[in-house]
Amino acid sequence: MMELKEIEDLIKAISKFPGLGPKSAKRIILKLINNKDEIMKPTINALVNVFKNISRCNYCGTLKSSKDDCNGCTNCENLKKKYSKICVVENIADQWNIENTNIFNGYFHILGGTISGSVGKSQKLLIDSLVERVKKQNIEEVIVATSATVEGQTTAYYIEETLKNSNVKISKLAQGLPVGGEIEALDDGTLFSAFKNRTQF
Ligand SMILES: [Zn+2]
Repeated sequence: MMELKEIEDLIKAISKFPGLGPKSAKRIILKLINNKDEIMKPTINALVNVFKNISRCNYCGTLKSSKDDCNGCTNCENLKKKYSKICVVENIADQWNIENTNIFNGYFHILGGTISGSVGKSQKLLIDSLVERVKKQNIEEVIVATSATVEGQTTAYYIEETLKNSNVKISKLAQGLPVGGEIEALDDGTLFSAFKNRTQF
């Protein structure tokens, strides 16, 4: 068995990736070592660029590149198209899943986790800026698309309470989401009907 410290350290790091254990980590590392120029080098460069340039927008919660013009965020600031709806999700993976289904035309707002959940505890939950966006961007409907978990539903309730007096329609995805269902993991059909049959608070 390998006992090189460099490799052991890398196995430890890569084992922490979602869906990977030590076994697949070792396979990845071998692939990298055997293809230093073709795979390892471009991977390192891409990682360095992401590390240096990509960060979370403190306003809408999406990922942005500091290389973009004026250091702006294209999700909340520079959108040429104006929408009247905003969809509130916990994580960027939820947004990606909703975007893939093409069922929603509007802005996204990424909270960065849930109120009581352990997810994203290190991140600030972007609720104040949601209230601000709703006012500033003339939003007519806020669609709360948090998970069908206790934390997700508590968060939805909290958002409803917070926005109650701001004269905006607040809806949430239809019941019938599988309990414990995370938005990022839902299939197209389930997401589609959850959006279509969304209910007002
Ligand atoms: Zn933004």
